[in-house]
Amino acid sequence: MQLSDLRFLTSAPRVAQLPDDTGSEIVFAGRSNAGKSSAINQLFAQRGLAKVSKQPGRTQAFNVFAFDPSRRVVDLPGYGYAKVPDSVQRRWGQEIPAYFAERQSLAGVVLIMDVRHPFRESDNQFLALTARHPVVVVLSKADKLSKSQQNQRLGEAERHAVALGIDPESLLLFSAQTGQGREGLQSLIMEWLEFDQPNVEREAEE
Ligand code: GDP
Repeated sequence: MQLSDLRFLTSAPRVAQLPDDTGSEIVFAGRSNAGKSSAINQLFAQRGLAKVSKQPGRTQAFNVFAFDPSRRVVDLPGYGYAKVPDSVQRRWGQEIPAYFAERQSLAGVVLIMDVRHPFRESDNQFLALTARHPVVVVLSKADKLSKSQQNQRLGEAERHAVALGIDPESLLLFSAQTGQGREGLQSLIMEWLEFDQPNVEREAEE
């Protein structure tokens, strides 16, 4: 089993329509245009995987991908995207908090932010929902900045994180274009989804 084995499973408009709440699941979120689809495609070594989530009708839904029945990746619609009817927006405004309150299999949250515009109000509102769960804040499009600018932005973002009660160690610089940050994030995802990792000692066979 490897990260490139991820396949689209289903689009669920409501929590009640999600696959059974067993095994482990991680969720990707972020403001529209933060670089979420690019990150997903890069992390799982597939072109166009997250394009599925952008198809009409799948925009305000939990887009579920799976490795096997007990390991899933959920792609949430980018927030700040207003081109949906009010009734759909209202429903979604109830489903998202319900998901984070109820989902037992949720093992980790990958929150994508553009490194140049992190911790916007909508990000902070989102983070308030995920307080019970492990979170990694992925500062994307790092290639758009020089190394010294990256470090400056990272330092600022770490201070924001601390102010919000988030461990500053959970921030990482990332670029879907250069692959910066990819391995660290992949290894965290594999840990959350309980993959065997080559450098992790396997339990002794019985
Ligand atoms: P989403 O709306 O969050 O899924 O964002 P996308 O992945 O569609 O990316 C939005 C825009 O940012 C696109 O034009 C991407 O090509 C660009 N983009 C995404 N990630 C990166 C990155 O790491 N580096 C650069 N330079 N551009 C990126």
